[in-house]
Amino acid sequence: MNESPIKILKERLVEISHLTSILNLLEWDQEVNMPKKAGDARAESFAHLAGIIHNKILALNDGKHLAQLKKLFDSGKISGSNGIIVNETWRTYDREIKLPAGFVRELATTISKAQGVWAEARAKNDFAIFLPHLEKIVKLKKQEAELVGYATSPYDALLDAYEPGIDTATASAILLNLKKFLVPFLRRIKESAVTIKTERVKGRFKLHQQILFNELVLKKIGFDFEAGRLDASIHPFSSGFHPYDVRLTTRYKENDVLYSLGSTIHEAGHGLYEQGLPVEHFGTPLAETVSLGIHESQSRLWENQIGKGRPFWKYFYPKLQKTWPKPFQNISSSEFYQIINRVQPSLIRTEADEVTYNLHIILRFEMEKDLIEGKIKAKDLPVIWRAKMKEYLDIEVPSDTLGVLQDVHWSAGLFGYFPTYSFGNLYAAQFYQQLEKNIPDLDKKIKKGDFTAVIDWLRKNIHMRGKTDTAAALVKKVTGEDLDPKYFAAYLEKKYAEIYHI
Ligand code: MG
Repeated sequence: MNESPIKILKERLVEISHLTSILNLLEWDQEVNMPKKAGDARAESFAHLAGIIHNKILALNDGKHLAQLKKLFDSGKISGSNGIIVNETWRTYDREIKLPAGFVRELATTISKAQGVWAEARAKNDFAIFLPHLEKIVKLKKQEAELVGYATSPYDALLDAYEPGIDTATASAILLNLKKFLVPFLRRIKESAVTIKTERVKGRFKLHQQILFNELVLKKIGFDFEAGRLDASIHPFSSGFHPYDVRLTTRYKENDVLYSLGSTIHEAGHGLYEQGLPVEHFGTPLAETVSLGIHESQSRLWENQIGKGRPFWKYFYPKLQKTWPKPFQNISSSEFYQIINRVQPSLIRTEADEVTYNLHIILRFEMEKDLIEGKIKAKDLPVIWRAKMKEYLDIEVPSDTLGVLQDVHWSAGLFGYFPTYSFGNLYAAQFYQQLEKNIPDLDKKIKKGDFTAVIDWLRKNIHMRGKTDTAAALVKKVTGEDLDPKYFAAYLEKKYAEIYHI
């Protein structure tokens, strides 16, 4: 077929991507640099630019341009990488066109108001003031599901925005399977006689030294500082504007250097993914990431499988001890390893260890799915939250601030987002066991501070592929199997049986 309609589509997509990069840069700036008084003006800048991008996406189908390409794709006349570009662009366009401008505006206004109220409710431990806003958001998200359409559950339509290709039934089955493993496994760890004293790693760590150490780790694992930066923000995040411009943030605590290091390594995993996308395809789905779950798999693989492993610290621990003799000189590397891997059920998701973390997610997934499916009501959330925390983690929730009000997601309308965190953990474990199979002397290399084999493997199998496959297809292609929580369970079993003698 004639190449030019595809060429026109690509040019338009590149333009949209540059505009999106500018929007992301403004967001990065808001979190890192922006003066306090600029908030309202910045919100307006966002709204204008987001409107322009929305219109550009809709304009992709002017003169039925995109629809005609989609027809050619459906009849097999466009295939290969052009087929992927057409099909993925159609998916984006199709979701965008199904949401009327009035609906999008109402949702945006509702969320913008709700976030302020949520912050206040959390500060005051007062769920009641947030409730009417949450009820409205749930109503709108149900409406969104109806507008977008779904096969079985309205939650399908919301989940699909973040993890395309996984429906509610599949997600439920995977997470139920995981829960059945985690709850008794956690009980075994809690009954262990091993005690781990985490306070021993606390001390005084000067900020400039922490920054240098974080940069040293990033450089060593392969983050390219000529194509990226590391800065500080309240909530760590990463943002890729282009494979040659990837921004990471972390946060620092003066008495705890491991606090910044954990976040930095996590965000570096996201950042390495963004730096590894094929630059020659910038602007098209061929240079986009697969899904939130696959993105999170990259961060978790670096943060946990690698960054909390013995080989990694075999290399970095002497450097940590040399930089801060106090407190690390008096802590052996094996005690240090236990400390960074301690399991302790706690109230706050973002502070959870890798055993309890997914139980926090499963709880949220079950609740938001039931909300969207109309099986429970928003007003019942605090009670259900407490019951599930007791059942899964065996802890009492003393306040809604430390319970149902802790996360920003629901106030931001992000229903369907939580399960992608757990998928990320599951993908990471499944990818890592494959990586270990493919690189037999992996640990030896990591012990020497050589991460090139890991980076090369991730580049070839995941990063360079862009959005060529759905998450499900990618997992199958890379590991030869469908996503299966057994790999994550086996990883935990092996690691924690040794640490806790269970
Ligand atoms: Mg992450």
